[in-house]
Amino acid sequence: MTKNEVGKRLFVLSGPSGCGKDTVIKCLKMVRDDIFLSVSCTTRAPRENEREGVDYYYITSEQFRQMIEAGEILEYNFYAGNYYGTSRQELDRGLAEGKIMVLVIDVNGAHNVRRLYPDATLVFLLPPSIDVLRQRIAGRGLTNDVEERMKIAIAEIADADNFDYQLVNDDLETCVNELSAIIDTVMNKANQMEE
Ligand code: 5GP
Repeated sequence: MTKNEVGKRLFVLSGPSGCGKDTVIKCLKMVRDDIFLSVSCTTRAPRENEREGVDYYYITSEQFRQMIEAGEILEYNFYAGNYYGTSRQELDRGLAEGKIMVLVIDVNGAHNVRRLYPDATLVFLLPPSIDVLRQRIAGRGLTNDVEERMKIAIAEIADADNFDYQLVNDDLETCVNELSAIIDTVMNKANQMEE
């Protein structure tokens, strides 16, 4: 597959931690079987309800560094004290299945994907308000890094205009439908251009 072909099948859902990206994408996956949701690698410890290979691949910093050196990481970011990255293997797996690839990653990661694949579609998910975002971040029990995450979130939100689409995660169902419609619009346009 050429870079352009990969880019056209690549969607990035980004936005600050706590804005609900994972919930939106899990709901979308329940109603669409043509998307492949990339599972990232991270050096952060699993949260109570998280599972290896479902939410993340949990690896050590040493393993992460080795993967970077071996060229196995497509994009990565150092966020709130930990590494997070998308493996090339994960992208290849989704594409081999003929699926539409969706990466749920932070704002820096989204820009890195854009540099690698200019045809990728970047969607920014906004929280309904800063207060709601703070409540969601605090509700995760990450008391030690709420303030750090809020500081990063405010800087990230300032970047929303640089994305192809912005969605507000106010009503979950509406948001999922809007994201699904964006994917259809982009894929239909790409298919028409191929014909
Ligand atoms: P959390 O610790 O809340 O699971 O994730 C922290 C931030 O890292 C979130 O904004 C999440 O979307 C982002 N993230 C998760 N996986 C990746 C990845 O593979 N690459 C990048 N750049 N960011 C990621």
